[in-house]
Amino acid sequence: MNITVCIKQVPSTSEVEIDEKTGNLKRDGVDSKINPYDLFALEEAVRIKKKNNATVNALTMGPNQAEEILHEAYCLGADQGYLITDRKCAGADVLATSKALSEGIKKVGKSDLIICGKQTTDGDTAQVGAEIAELLGIPHANNVLEIKEVKEDSIILDIDLPTMVQTIEMQLPCLLSVDKDINQPRLPSYKLKKVTKDKKILSFGVADFEDSDESHYGMNGSPTQVVRIFPPESTKETETWEGNSDELAEKMAQKILELKIL
Ligand SMILES: Cc1cc2nc3c(=O)[nH]c(=O)nc-3n(C[C@H](O)[C@H](O)[C@H](O)COP(=O)(O)OP(=O)(O)OC[C@H]3O[C@@H](n4cnc5c(N)ncnc54)[C@H](O)[C@@H]3O)c2cc1C
Repeated sequence: MNITVCIKQVPSTSEVEIDEKTGNLKRDGVDSKINPYDLFALEEAVRIKKKNNATVNALTMGPNQAEEILHEAYCLGADQGYLITDRKCAGADVLATSKALSEGIKKVGKSDLIICGKQTTDGDTAQVGAEIAELLGIPHANNVLEIKEVKEDSIILDIDLPTMVQTIEMQLPCLLSVDKDINQPRLPSYKLKKVTKDKKILSFGVADFEDSDESHYGMNGSPTQVVRIFPPESTKETETWEGNSDELAEKMAQKILELKIL
């Protein structure tokens, strides 16, 4: 069985500056880490690997520095790391990102199961998993709470719906986006770190894809564009009011009108 896990490199801090002109995150000098939700995805894959004798591929799209998280994935039990890195993928919106990842998954080889995190802590759209599955033409399930059984051709899982937990059986190959309560991710293994320290990461770009039409990737393949992006204004200014409840309610109402909240 072949499992491919999509992992993304995200900033380790929420205090990342944004270049107001380009709308891009200023990532230089900012520490990065594996997107926390993707640790649950990787852990789930490694648990299935132990039970079902599977191979776990970790796939990311990003600049060369994203190799770091693939080396970390080796220390968490991944067998092979793959990096999609190409200037032609730069400036991708969600659709172009999903397109590149879906082509990357084909390039990795036959995947019986693809596992993504529920969402990222930087882009935070929670759309990539479903879009990859649509582009690959395979079924997908979001908010997966538990993988109950992996069979030869199907998988049984619990998914978290707004008012109930549903148990479903899906045909393989399929894509799952897993929630954070699905498991307790392990810590990186020092032993695996030593064994995999020289293990190569396999890289590819648009020219290697089955669909190598450059207009489908990066800015060219992005139907949406960020018009303006800016950090929300915040102030530490505080006001303290005194008075009885009627006076305070009146002041509060005036303030709400003054700030045009209503
Ligand atoms: C209109 C628009 C324009 C954008 N322009 C730019 C830009 O110019 N430059 C820029 O850097 N970003 C840009 N982005 C952000 C970029 O599109 C997102 O980083 C990307 O689409 C992933 O979306 P997300 O982070 O919301 O992932 P989510 O949908 O929240 O992630 C779900 C899961 O998908 C997987 N996943 C997501 N991204 C990756 C990845 N790269 N590699 C591996 N797995 C992944 C992970 O398993 C993750 O847990 C833009 C976004 C939009 C909406």
